[in-house]
This record gives sequence, structure tokens and C-alpha cells, in this order.
Amino acid sequence: VTGLHLVEAESAARLLLNLLGIDTTSDGLDATPRRMVQALAELTAGLRDPADPADVLDRTFPAPADHPQMIVMRGIRFTSVCEHHMLPFHGSAVVGYLPFPGRRVVGASKLARLVEGYAVRPQMQERLGEQVTAAIMGKLAAQGAGCLLTATHTCLTLRGARSASAMMVTSHLAGCFKASPVREEFLALSRGS
Ligand SMILES: [Zn+2]
Repeated sequence: VTGLHLVEAESAARLLLNLLGIDTTSDGLDATPRRMVQALAELTAGLRDPADPADVLDRTFPAPADHPQMIVMRGIRFTSVCEHHMLPFHGSAVVGYLPFPGRRVVGASKLARLVEGYAVRPQMQERLGEQVTAAIMGKLAAQGAGCLLTATHTCLTLRGARSASAMMVTSHLAGCFKASPVREEFLALSRGS
């Protein structure tokens, strides 16, 4: 774990567990504060990574010179952590964009890495979608872009209202994706039709 004061973080985690009434002196729980810190560090690694997640879009290829089609990637799995409770939320993303003729496109894996890059930090689902869309619009100068996110928030499903089956769905559309008929085409492709 880089960029983190491990010893301090571990003793803080131990204190928190102890204050919750959890005895961390037993064999099974002695290393729990360390595992807790490592797990949280992994979920928030983006905070300590100096690279801008949008930079994964720097490696590009030319788009077709005339009539480029919409590019949509579905089923991008992601895990993030909600900044309000520090509990994970996870789900899947659909990311799409429409390049300008002769401008730039990226390899398919880059869209998944873009989502992951913005996910590994304390987040709000709404902001995650907005950041993904803004990065595509900014880096690729696309005609339009969209990001649909469907996620299970464990702060909702495991506690509080305990709505086990509740899913949060958010949609961010930019540029030509905001208007018909591009909007409908993106939404249809996101469902696989
Ligand atoms: Zn939450």
C-alpha cells in the first residue's frame, strides 16, 4: 500500500474496532485492523495515484473519415465506495460515445479502465457517471457521450432501510446524446437491442 501511514492507519482501525466493542486481541482478530486498512486502501487507491484517470484515453486511433458509428461498451463491472458511509457499492456500467468523422477513438479496454479509474476512490454514483462522460468529451472531443450506471449500494442493502433488492440507476448524457434520435439509439444499445 503506497502513500499511506500503515502503522497509524492500523492503530486507528484497531481503536475504531475496540470502540465498537470488538476485541482484537484474539488470534482470529489480531490481524483484522491490518486487513481492514488494506481493503479500504484498495477501494480508495485512486486517491493516492497521481495519474489522472482520464489519461487512459490518451492512446487513440483515427475514427472512420465518414459516418462513424456509435461505440457502446456494456457490462463493465465496477466496485466503488460510497463517500457518505465508506461502504462499497458495485454494479455495472454502459459507456458509449459518438466520434466526429476523422477524429479519435480508443481501444475497448480503455472505457472499462476509465470507469475503474474513477471508481477506486470515495465516490457518489452520480459523480462517477459525470466524470466518465466528461473525460470522453474532453479527451476525444466526441460528438456525444453517455454513461449509464446500475449499482447495489451496501449502505442501503445491508443496513438502514435494508432494501436488499434496490438498485440505483443513473444516466449521464452529454453532447448529441442528450437529444433524439441519438439518445434512443444509445439507450436501445445499452439494453442490447
Ligand atoms: Zn452510502
